[in-house]
This record gives sequence, C-alpha cells and structure tokens, in this order.
Amino acid sequence: MLYKRSSQLFAEAEKVIPGGVNSPVRAFKAVGGTPIFVKSAKGAYLYDEDGNKLIDYINSWGPMVLGHAYEPVVEAVIERAKLGTSFGMPTELETQIAALAIKMVPNIDKIRFVNSGTEACMSAIRLARGYTKRDKIIKFAGCYHGHSDSFLIQAGSGAITFGSPNSPGVTAGTAKDTLLARYNDLDNVVELITANPNEIAAIIVEPVAGNMGCIPPKEGFLEGLRQLCTDNGILLIFDEVMTGFRLAAGGVQDLVGVTSDIVCFGKVIGGGLPVGAFAARAEIMNYLAPLGPVYQAGTLSGNPLAMAAGLAMLKALDADRDVFIRLKDKTAYLAAGINKVLTNNNVSFTINTIGSMISVHFDENAVVDFQTAAKGDNETFKKFFHGLLQEGIYIAPSAYETWFITDALTYEDLDFTIQAIDKVSKTF
Ligand code: PMP
Repeated sequence: MLYKRSSQLFAEAEKVIPGGVNSPVRAFKAVGGTPIFVKSAKGAYLYDEDGNKLIDYINSWGPMVLGHAYEPVVEAVIERAKLGTSFGMPTELETQIAALAIKMVPNIDKIRFVNSGTEACMSAIRLARGYTKRDKIIKFAGCYHGHSDSFLIQAGSGAITFGSPNSPGVTAGTAKDTLLARYNDLDNVVELITANPNEIAAIIVEPVAGNMGCIPPKEGFLEGLRQLCTDNGILLIFDEVMTGFRLAAGGVQDLVGVTSDIVCFGKVIGGGLPVGAFAARAEIMNYLAPLGPVYQAGTLSGNPLAMAAGLAMLKALDADRDVFIRLKDKTAYLAAGINKVLTNNNVSFTINTIGSMISVHFDENAVVDFQTAAKGDNETFKKFFHGLLQEGIYIAPSAYETWFITDALTYEDLDFTIQAIDKVSKTF
C-alpha cells in the first residue's frame, strides 16, 4: 500500500503543528514512518487520503465501540447542530444522558460532564482531596489518567512510548503528592498507606489497565484495594475512561462487582465527540460547586452536540446488552487465532485480553504490570505494525497500547486479520 499523500500531508502538518500531530502517539515516533491521514471512516474501516481501506483496531482509541459513523449518533449530532451548537446554559439533554448513565452504572447518584478523560480524572482527584481534606494520591506505574500534572508520574500510553514518564513542567511540589505503586501488587499499596498515615486522599486505578497494553487485574486485586480504601478513609477512584460502557454496560464495577467511590468516564460516553464525566454517590458529588466548596467548571461542558452523540450511544448500548457478549466473543476468536499462528511461527508472545480489549506483547512471560510490560521486544513490534499496515490493518502505533474491538467487525475481518498476522509473523 502506498502512503504518498499521507506523507505529504504530514510534512505540511509538521511545519505548523508540533510533531505534526495534536496528540503524541499519533506521530508514529515509536514505530517509525509517517502517520496515516484519514479521510473518512465507516463501520470497521478507515479510508485514508491515498485511497487505502484499512481495518481499524484503534477506533479513535476506544470510543467507536459500535463502529465508525454509527448512524444514530451521526443523525443525533446533525439534528442537534441545526438547533445551535453551544449555549453555556442548561439543556434537557444533559439531564437525559446523566439519568441514563446513572441507570447503567452501579453505585452512582450524580454525574458531572466535562470535555475529556483528562479533565474527568483531574477533577476527580480534586474532589477526592477536597472531600477527604488530604493531599496525597496513589497511582500505579504504567496507568494513564490523562495529561494533568499529578498523573504524569510513570504514566502509561504515549508517556511510556516516548520513554519520558516524568514530564518536564511538572513541579517537584506536585510530584511529591503522587505516590507510585506497582499494578496488581496489594502489598506495595499497603506499604505506601502505612508510610503515609491519614495523608492519602485517593487511590486512582485503571480497574483493567489499558495503557501499558491490556493488563487485567489479578484476582483479588480490586477487592483488596476496595477494602484498603474503606479501612483507611481513602476514596477509591476507578478510571473507567477506557473500560466504561465497553467491558459491560456499567463498566468494570458491573463486570467484577467491586464498587469505587468515584468513577471517571471518557471515550464511549461521548460517542466520538469530546466528552468526559465523573460520578459518585450524592454525598461526594454534592461537594462540588455550586453546592459545595470544590470548584470545577467548563464553558463547553455538557455541550449539546457532545451530549446528543453520547446519549445516542448510551441508548444503543442500553437497548442491546448482548453487544457486550458479541464483542467478547469476537475478541476471544481473534485472540485464539493470533495465538495459533504466532505459536506455529515460533514467536515469543503473550496475549492479554478481557472483554473487547486485547494486546499482543512480544515477550513470553506473563505481563502483569509496568515492569513486565516494558520487557516486550519493540523491534518485533515495529515489524508487526508495519507488516500489518501493508496488509491493510491498522493497530496502535505503539507496543504499549490496547486494541479496541468494535461490534462492526465481521468474522471475515477477523479471519483476514489472523491470516495477515500469520503472513507477517513469518517474516520476523
Ligand atoms: N484515563 C484513561 C484510562 C485513558 O485511557 C485516557 C486516554 N487514553 C485518559 C484517562 C485521558 O483521556 P483523554 O485523552 O480524553 O483526555
């Protein structure tokens, strides 16, 4: 496949946008080459500026769980746009999507909408700090909670891809309040709590990690965190930006039956428009302005186009709960196929998968945390990525990312992908 026009467009973009992109991982720095410029997308496929058709396993990094240009979402946005695109005043739509989200997600009474996952997580920790009157938070190495200062401490996603988990510009004062733990290691969390008595406001965790590849929680890990938080007056924050409305109608809380105190959303909840949200029981949410002292706001928060898209998406998922079974079945089929061909071709690998999230690590050891994820063979990953691209398959341009399966993928697409992986892995 040729990517001539994409290369030209990238060269133009580089002149006026830092690195040519508005979010770092898009730049292909980790895998080499130049990024693909998209013209349009429909269902499971991307169509690029060179006229190539690609099967998409990123799906805008998660939101398009029902496929690109999903008709009810597109229609909802078009109809709303005709009525005006932003008012900075309340609309009925906001209450409708809030009520539906609260119905679908366990243990939340109120929800506030923001414009990104970053904002949701940033606001959630401010709320937790205000509510508990404590300053410190615990986060896990390799988990990504957006690019706000407190979280850029051994963060996953692009922050690992570029080998700089601690970004310049984050002050030492901020960094000192973020304590780091190992994912899937409760003993390590206990040590931190013991060393910082009555100082920890919140533990924030991706209940299924997706930003160092996909790493499901070990049995008992989330239950243990829940107990530790309850015992120590710490709020448990589930960052379900990736997993919310994807792994189950009510996210990981629903899937594993462990409840958090605050939950953050993004991606699917906006149906592909810029939306994030955070939610909790009323007593916690009432701590927010204008009811309470913790300030949080947004000119475009609850934007009618974004709310219309999100509402159409949540309605579709709520009405067809079998979608989560279909997604899981498709992912399991893909995982089994990849497993078979990579084994036949004597490749060292580990596949991690849960629900509609999957990642292939090029290392045979179990991948359970940041350290084990970092052992993956990046040279093999690069060949894998570019080989698949030539076959018309688009996966994330970094070994530290999860693939997102969409309901629009057919079993023919999955078979095609498995055959392509067979072909590509013979060249390693
Ligand atoms: N939390 C998690 C778990 C994420 O995966 C992401 C984005 N990949 C974020 C937060 C940040 O969301 P956004 O990019 O919308 O700011």
